[in-house]
Amino acid sequence: MTHQGACHCGAVRLTLPSTPEVATRCNCSLCRRIGGPWVYFAFGTVKIEGHPESTVAYVQGDKTLRTIHCKHCGCVTHWEPITLEPGERHGVNLGNFDPALIASVRVRKFDGAVTWSFLEE
Ligand SMILES: [Zn+2]
Repeated sequence: MTHQGACHCGAVRLTLPSTPEVATRCNCSLCRRIGGPWVYFAFGTVKIEGHPESTVAYVQGDKTLRTIHCKHCGCVTHWEPITLEPGERHGVNLGNFDPALIASVRVRKFDGAVTWSFLEE
């Protein structure tokens, strides 16, 4: 089952290829500011419309990924790897989707700030 979501103004639209079962809430210096929770899919499997024409990218720290937000409403929609290699994933901000979907997905807390591991099963 696919799921459609969008940033607040609708300029960036995302379609998930399947129903996510688990999402990640991360406390790293970036994620703790921009929220999430994040769900992950194989790169290229999430349909993203309005990107890059309506988006701005932010590249942080080790420059392995770019975090994308809508240039009109500011909502963070997803992140994507900068270097495409086999097995790469991208992350989607589940906050852009239906509240019922958000509520149905189990959220795991990830300590991206210190230990780089999940804080709970
Ligand atoms: Zn927008």
